[in-house]
Amino acid sequence: MYDIDTVRGDFPILSREVYGRPLVYLDNAATTQKPRPVVEAIEREYYSVNANVHRGVHYLSQQATELHEAARERVRAFIGARSAAEVIFTRGTTESLNLVAASFGEAFLHEGDEIILTVMEHHSDIVPWQLLRERRGVRLRVVPMTDDGTLDLDAYERLFTPRTRLVCCTHVSNVLGTVNPVRRMAGMAHAHGARFLVDAAQSAPHQRVDVERLGCDFLTFSGHKVYGPTGIGVLYGREELLDRMPPYQGGGEMIARVTFEHTTYERLPYKFEAGTPDYVGSHALAVALDYVEALGLDAIAAHEAALTRHALERLRAVPGLRVYGSAPERGPVIAFNVEGIHPLDLGTLLDRLGIAIRTGHHCAQPLMGRCGVEGMARASFALYNTEAEADALAEGIERVRRMF
Ligand code: PMP
Repeated sequence: MYDIDTVRGDFPILSREVYGRPLVYLDNAATTQKPRPVVEAIEREYYSVNANVHRGVHYLSQQATELHEAARERVRAFIGARSAAEVIFTRGTTESLNLVAASFGEAFLHEGDEIILTVMEHHSDIVPWQLLRERRGVRLRVVPMTDDGTLDLDAYERLFTPRTRLVCCTHVSNVLGTVNPVRRMAGMAHAHGARFLVDAAQSAPHQRVDVERLGCDFLTFSGHKVYGPTGIGVLYGREELLDRMPPYQGGGEMIARVTFEHTTYERLPYKFEAGTPDYVGSHALAVALDYVEALGLDAIAAHEAALTRHALERLRAVPGLRVYGSAPERGPVIAFNVEGIHPLDLGTLLDRLGIAIRTGHHCAQPLMGRCGVEGMARASFALYNTEAEADALAEGIERVRRMF
């Protein structure tokens, strides 16, 4: 049974006040709050285990290494990867995407090759490919969407050419909430001999992401959006691809043997993990994944879906409020604007009521352009949010409206 009061009790920050009002935190697509077990794991590791991993013969180093490698195995199980060698720790989704662009780009992409993106990608799944375009002369093609915020799959099919090498697609839009049919899209990419990358930054916290079921070649997500710490993220890649890709950064940890004449690299996944890894972060991420799995991803998804339905109903009843995106399958993200009120003003005034939402372009300027706006307000829900908080948002917006 999903007991929301018990769940909220695990997140001390939720009981704080801002401006003398109870905090209503609705900026979860930007980052999630951390449950007690995650923060305690960080404290425990620094207080009683801390030592650099992999290189030490001493007790603490071995213990820290065990925690770090157990975390890798935890992530492997979470995403259903075949081998822990396919799980690379990074700083987050952004670094994971830059790694693929640099290394897959180096190994597999040549001038004139094509990469398909979608109009709803986050900047972190656009700019690395543009940097690659400058270096390599690859071409970028963009899947358009229909007015309800659904990717146009007929247009997608037409974008493939014999030069298409890779498709990159967000699983869930961080703006519209659209859940994209990535399994089907991956199948289409493979039928054309192209690889498929899933940006799971906005899906991993809300639904099961199983790399085998999705049929993807790469998948990325960030620890801080799935109740883990900042500064740690994951890149999953198929072993046969990672094996053929060159290192992304050079340094300690990623080498087998170094001479001034020649260096050989470590086996996977270490080849892609130069320098001291965030071994405290990896362990804390594993604890966050334990937390999520103990609640149950299905139970979380059901709670958030009911909450999103309720919030949509309340928001759509506000005069002059327009919700962007009405795809039938959606995550717990609602972007909107209220006629006559700049989203920044709306966000600022809601903040004074204790309600934290996000405003602006949401790192998706091409999507803003497609929707014909400069910015939007966005409320995004997590496993600890309540219907009362969605009500507070709707009432807060009504209050702001009366000021204009
Ligand atoms: N992709 C999507 C869909 C996102 O929502 C975000 C974060 N807003 C990112 C990528 C980038 O994640 P990070 O900043 O943690 O690297």
